[in-house]
Amino acid sequence: MSTNLPDPTGLPGTGVHRIEKVALTAGLHDRSARIIGGGIAGLTAALALAARGASVTVTERAPELTEIGAGLQISPNAGRALEALGLGPALDAVSIRGRGVRMWDSAGRRIATLDFLAHRPQARFRMIHRARLIEVLAAAADAARITLRLGHAIEALPREPLVIGADGLHSRVRQVLNGTEAPFFTGQTAWRALITDPEPPTDGTGWADLFLGPKRHLVSYPLAGGLRNIVAVRQRPDWQAEGWSHHDDPAHLRAAFAAFGGPVPGWLAAVRETGIWGLFRHQVARRWHDDSRVLIGDAAHPTLPFMAQGASLAIEDAWQLAACLDALPDQPAAFERFQSLRADRATAIVALADRNARAYHLSGPARLAAHAGLRAIAAVAPARLTARFDWIYDYDPTRLGA
Ligand SMILES: Cc1cc2nc3c(=O)[nH]c(=O)nc-3n(C[C@H](O)[C@H](O)[C@H](O)COP(=O)(O)OP(=O)(O)OC[C@H]3O[C@@H](n4cnc5c(N)ncnc54)[C@H](O)[C@@H]3O)c2cc1C
Repeated sequence: MSTNLPDPTGLPGTGVHRIEKVALTAGLHDRSARIIGGGIAGLTAALALAARGASVTVTERAPELTEIGAGLQISPNAGRALEALGLGPALDAVSIRGRGVRMWDSAGRRIATLDFLAHRPQARFRMIHRARLIEVLAAAADAARITLRLGHAIEALPREPLVIGADGLHSRVRQVLNGTEAPFFTGQTAWRALITDPEPPTDGTGWADLFLGPKRHLVSYPLAGGLRNIVAVRQRPDWQAEGWSHHDDPAHLRAAFAAFGGPVPGWLAAVRETGIWGLFRHQVARRWHDDSRVLIGDAAHPTLPFMAQGASLAIEDAWQLAACLDALPDQPAAFERFQSLRADRATAIVALADRNARAYHLSGPARLAAHAGLRAIAAVAPARLTARFDWIYDYDPTRLGA
């Protein structure tokens, strides 16, 4: 299999390192799986199934495994599954280790610091370029002899005993299982951009910085290779298109965040190219499976990006689906078990991201009161702020018995 990923950084030293081939059990050696979609969910599921002996084909509509130029935070909950698949060292070589989140107001005054590294020193938060993650997954898939069919969009679902719908936000498999559903526009659009980091980390660790302003917020964090990722969200009632591929003039981004202080003006001045897209809210799928087909990742539970958990949930799904299929030879029972393991957690995280969408954009007195409350907790009991997310980050998908 050839991955043929362009290096969007143009920088040396970001190649794939130290992929270990992992064999967990041979429990699925007599099973064949067809995965629709070669994104994060599809490739991770392919690896998790192959590690248990299954023969796997991934069908991806894109002619190449390319990824948009953007960063991703992979939290320890998902990291545990990737590490169990032997990918820890390869990921560490191409990521920055996250220390936590620093929250600022739009003027650049500190609100609170969530020091996840101090709270959880053994766990790894990784901040990684999406292309680097796909590259690591694809190299591991190659080593595991997974068949990848590129340039093939599935319309009619194949009649095979095990079909996994990892086909993302506008999933064809979800549509077949659930009928046509209408997401609704949240009234928010997001710009994303990559810049050369004016102050790249020197010790391989870095913070995610979150700046909160009235009806808008901006998140930024460093990536390996001297890059910095920026996501800037604002409320805007008039947008209609969902998708990642709309280009915009960086001047619009700068104008929308002109009132922001701290390092933000310098970062935005460095933006040469930006994409913009509308944020839509989707329901978690009602039906995740029938007897031969099952949904994972965004196909099952797309989330707004305000908890940075979409890819992490997809990775957890991938591991747990393989574990359920391995533990329960009766496939419909395995699918049922998989949905029951996953649905409540995914629904809770999607709901939390929805709540953050509102909390991040407060205006007027509500904003001042919320920031004052956070500052007070940060001053007297900072651990209370970090502990609020233990249920997300301490979760270990590899330990839950199927
Ligand atoms: C601004 C933003 C920031 C984010 N930040 C984070 C973050 O920090 N941390 C995090 O965990 N998550 C984050 N996410 C969410 C994360 O990007 C997604 O949840 C994740 O990419 C979902 O992976 P997936 O494999 O399910 O879907 P996708 O990545 O969408 O992959 C689906 C694949 O299926 C293919 N496909 C679709 N239809 C067909 C078909 N009919 N036939 C064949 N192939 C098909 C597509 O081409 C694609 O390759 C962010 C999202 C956004 C928008």
